[in-house]
Amino acid sequence: MDWASIFIYDTTWAFAAEILIRVIVMFVLIISFLRFTGKRGVRQLSIFELTIILSLGSIAGDPMFTKELPIIQAVIIMSTVILLYRLCTWGMMKYQPFEDLLEGKSLYIVEDGMLVYDKIVEGKMSHDEFFAEMRQQGVEHLGQVRTGLLETDGNFSLLLYPPDDTSYGLPLFPKQYQAVEQVESGTYYACMYCGYLDFISDANQQCGRCEDNCRNWAKALNTKLVR
Ligand SMILES: [Zn+2]
Repeated sequence: MDWASIFIYDTTWAFAAEILIRVIVMFVLIISFLRFTGKRGVRQLSIFELTIILSLGSIAGDPMFTKELPIIQAVIIMSTVILLYRLCTWGMMKYQPFEDLLEGKSLYIVEDGMLVYDKIVEGKMSHDEFFAEMRQQGVEHLGQVRTGLLETDGNFSLLLYPPDDTSYGLPLFPKQYQAVEQVESGTYYACMYCGYLDFISDANQQCGRCEDNCRNWAKALNTKLVR
């Protein structure tokens, strides 16, 4: 067994420096790519934490069975990633804009029982995803929700109205989230696109808030939260 080959193999100073540059470039690439997908983190991990895990992912295992991959190279890579991690964490604590750049901002998705309109337009949210999130937290319709915030780690935080302040709102469960064909007078209907409430007179009426985006209305609910 040749110890020098396990630890050093053909590593030169020049190649060590090259590894350093490669790691930094890849780190920036991974984080940019993840940010550009527009996705939030997954399962309690922010984009930044995900980048660390992806960066360390293959380097931990490969040197265990790859002859051409000496331990020293893995050590250089891991140290660089950890250094970048420390540097970014420090930067994020010091400068808010840097944190927003790496992790994104938390976004208001629901305000006062309605979906925040420009967030839908920007494509920052899909109805399915956020309806599912709210349903899982026991919410039946938007009239129960005062504020819904999408966190940078992809979690959804909700502030709910107390039962007495619950108003009419867009239903979130599939059976009630259905476009009506016949309109009853004196009944609240909710725009299926943005959650805007109206007494409509025609099932194909334009929404007063999102205008041309929606001509579908669901019968609004005002059931109160039971906790
Ligand atoms: Zn609307």
